Amino acid sequence: MSAPALVEIPSGSCFVGGTWLAVSGESLIEVIDPATEAVIARVPEASQATIAAAFAAARDVQPSWSAMAPEARGAVLDRLAEQIELHGEQLARLASSEIGMPIRDSRAGQVRFPVAVLKVYADLARDYPWEERDASGTTLRREAAGVVLAITPWNFPVHQIIAKIAPALVAGCTVVLKPSELTPMNALFIAELARRAGLPAGAFNVVTGTGPLAGQALLTSGAFDVVSFTGSLAVGRHVGATAGAAIVRATLELGGKSPALVAPDADLDIAVATTVRNCFVNAGQKCNAPTRLLVPEDQRQAAVEIALRTAREYVIGDPQDDDTTMGPVSSAAARDRIRGFVQRARDAGATVHDTASSLPSRGYFVSPTVITDVAQSSEIVQEEVFGPVLVIQGYTSLDEAVGLANDSPYGLSAEVWSADVGTVRALARTIRAGQVRVNGVRTPMPPVSPFGGMKNSGIGRELGPLGLEEFVEVKAILGDPQS
Ligand code: NAD
Repeated sequence: MSAPALVEIPSGSCFVGGTWLAVSGESLIEVIDPATEAVIARVPEASQATIAAAFAAARDVQPSWSAMAPEARGAVLDRLAEQIELHGEQLARLASSEIGMPIRDSRAGQVRFPVAVLKVYADLARDYPWEERDASGTTLRREAAGVVLAITPWNFPVHQIIAKIAPALVAGCTVVLKPSELTPMNALFIAELARRAGLPAGAFNVVTGTGPLAGQALLTSGAFDVVSFTGSLAVGRHVGATAGAAIVRATLELGGKSPALVAPDADLDIAVATTVRNCFVNAGQKCNAPTRLLVPEDQRQAAVEIALRTAREYVIGDPQDDDTTMGPVSSAAARDRIRGFVQRARDAGATVHDTASSLPSRGYFVSPTVITDVAQSSEIVQEEVFGPVLVIQGYTSLDEAVGLANDSPYGLSAEVWSADVGTVRALARTIRAGQVRVNGVRTPMPPVSPFGGMKNSGIGRELGPLGLEEFVEVKAILGDPQS
């Protein structure tokens, strides 16, 4: 099959009301490829006028969009999935050039996974109990919550956008999206594909800009009914507080510092190598990366050796190259922030194992790093680094290990490893995290299991039926006559 014609995204525009809205008086933000440090695009710092136009478009079309049969909304999502599949290679390459994700990972995480999520929601549109009777005969009617403000980060940009817009649109909501200023182009690309899929004008709008300017203006606009945010704890607190003051529902998908707990009877080789590979996906820029590896103290030295061997296998370089397994981190600021964490850990007495023999001279590259000899209370154990940095700690009893695993302000995910069924079952039920993976299981397909955090990792869930409920209001109609 010949490649489809390239999708053109006009420079310097937002996508509002089903069309490209060129800038007028807005300043432009440079989008930089972190592997080459070259400017690859420019997008607007959206003005108040653009923001108002986006919310007006979303508000105008919301009643007619939600009045459509859910199956018809699902059919639009099916067609969007087809569009993403058709233009998948261009989208994967675009995402890789915006974030530095190795192309093989972009094809999986920014194309195949979002397509699977769209198909789940297209099916749910048909199967979801939009109206049902409870035990008292009252009708429970699930209605669209209204206009959604979606704010997304840069690390898995297409996935994070689809995980919000697919359930929101199926629920009958309309969306104003502000993608990360580091990765706006793939959001605009999806908007164009959604237009081609037949999504009504105004149902999905993309407003670009930085967090403190466009993001803050969107957040304080008072023009939306739900805010769905994925990003850092600091910004999440601010989004949650702003939404709370306005009595607007907020879903917050925040950071993590996830443990991987390896029981004494687990296969150490497999457990450690798998943990390293999970931790260093996307150069460690993954909210649910297992960044704290807990192993029996008497196996700690062996675990460190396995971890270093695995970390040294990375092919670090051009993300567009099929052989590359680790690209740069997202920005110069991210690189400097990660290096700061590592330096402070070293200053505090930790042992730092830097595993790359050399790094490319251009681009924001960071060496895959393993850190040992750390105090549980230290910054490197407690705080999210968001880079290719793994901490290894020893424990002397499983009770102590569970205590260390749970001694974190975060509770996004956890991994548990044991050859014994009873042990993994007990560990999985004792660790406070929104998601627990047993013995390295990969995300089961179709992607219907909920994702989200306990404690400081957030409020609410994404994916599957629970992800849809974030965008639904339940109305109880008492004494509703049978039709
Ligand atoms: P960030 O919090 O800096 O930015 C996230 C988004 O918020 C961006 O679009 C940004 O422009 C916007 N923003 C910033 N200030 C704002 C403001 N005042 N008002 C409105 N919007 C504002 O996070 P990031 O650096 O883009 O992403 C990394 C973080 O995201 C990490 O902490 C990571 O763990 C987290 N994350 C969580 C999940 C999850 O599902 N739990 C998934 C991916 C990433």
